Formats: sequence, C-alpha cells, structure tokens
Amino acid sequence: MLDSVRIVLVNTSDCRNIGSAARAMKTMGLTQLYLVDPIELPNGQAQALAAGATDVLANANVVNTLEEAVSDCGLVVGTSARSRTLPWPMLEPRACGEKMIAETENYPVALVFGRESSGLTNEELQLCHFHVQIPANPEYSSLNLAMAVQTLSYEVRMAYLAKQNEQYETNDIEDYPVVDETERMFEHFEKALKATGFIVPSHPGLVMTKLRRFINRARPDSKEVKMWRGILSSVEKSAKK
Ligand code: SAH
Repeated sequence: MLDSVRIVLVNTSDCRNIGSAARAMKTMGLTQLYLVDPIELPNGQAQALAAGATDVLANANVVNTLEEAVSDCGLVVGTSARSRTLPWPMLEPRACGEKMIAETENYPVALVFGRESSGLTNEELQLCHFHVQIPANPEYSSLNLAMAVQTLSYEVRMAYLAKQNEQYETNDIEDYPVVDETERMFEHFEKALKATGFIVPSHPGLVMTKLRRFINRARPDSKEVKMWRGILSSVEKSAKK
C-alpha cells in the first residue's frame, strides 16, 4: 500500500528541503519520491539532511512536469497553505490519509507539494482531484515544505496502520481513471466545445476551469469517462454537419 503512495515536490528551490522531505517520508514508510523540475538537484547538503533516508533520495524520479509525475495516478491531492480564488473539493488531512490508502488498492496515488516561495500554481492545483490544507494557525499557516510532508505522511501512515488492523474490509472502490485518461477527456471537451462555438478561442473565459472543477467533483469512473468521450465524438460529428 505505502509503495503506491507518491510524494511529488514541484520546483523545489532549496534541495535541503528535498533531503528533509526524504527523511520525513522514510520515517512514515514512504519511498516513492518524485521531483518535478527541481531548481537544485539533491547534493551533499540534501544527503546530510536525509540522514538514513539517502536511499529515498537516490531513487527519486526527476521529471519535467507535474503531469508526467502523476499521469498514471488515479488520485491526486494537492497541498496548499492558503485557500485560493477558485474553491476546489477539499479534504481534511485525516480523510486525505484514509482516502489515499483506500485507493492504493487500484492505482498509484499522489500527494503534491509546492514551491517554498509561492506554493502550487492554479494550473497545477487544477490537475488535482482534491486539495488538502493542514489547519494551521490562520495568522501563520505556512509550514516548512518538509514539515508539511511529515505531517501529511503521518496521516497516510495512521490510515495504513488502521487498515492493517481492520480484518474484514468490504469497501468496494470504484474503478477510477488515471490522470492521463482524464486529461485526454478534457482535451476532447475543449475541442468539441470549440467546434460547437461554445468556447470562442479568442475569449475562452473560465469554461475549462469550471468544467474541470465540476467533473473533478463528480469523480467519473472509467466507464463514465469512456461514455463522455463517446458523447463528445457525437457532438463533434453533428457540429461538422
Ligand atoms: N507561500 C506559499 C507557501 C509555500 S510553503 C503559499 O502561499 O502557497 C511550501 C509548500 O509546503 C506548499 O506549497 C505546500 O505544499 C506545503 N504547505 C505548507 N503549509 C501548508 C499547510 N498549512 N497545509 C498544506 N500544505 C502546506
């Protein structure tokens, strides 16, 4: 279960935070670290802070974009120290841990952390199914990156241990699509809505953002995503006529 939980650090500027995050992960039994476009690759300082978790650091996957880091994940949760202009489905840290552990039965799941200076961009946040916020002091709510990793990894571990203790688990988990499939569906939506004229390329407005929010909230399963692709193909066909 824990091997299917991925910690993704986006565009980290201080690699000492990457080292500390690796240590935080390993103490909670997590090993899958993804670094999206890190400004500084882990060096000796990062290794010193990783302490006994240099293996997590050494095995980290370095990729260019967030989409690459999560394309095979069925559940992606973004972290944020503050609420954003566009509200998104939220999870409490505890529920976040439980949901991630429950869904590891079907696919890899990801927890995404932002830049030290500015967090995650709106575009990155919109790639996530849910957002999670550690309910810290409202007057000073921004934790150090590695400490945020520690706090949320702890919740994942608590959920994992609780699950180990549950002998008769009967929850049916839906068959949810991975990010790649959902992204293709959104591309199809955009194409079809341009074909019908609902989206005007020169003034696209917030249609795609709002549609993403709506569909994320509904969390379509794989069959429903396939159905949408069929619907969109038929819309494109009749728009052509
Ligand atoms: N100034 C940034 C804060 C960045 S802190 C901002 O306003 O967004 C660096 C990262 O640590 C964040 O992107 C997030 O991943 C994590 N983090 C810090 N505090 C957090 C909190 N209270 N809840 C959830 N994640 C938090």
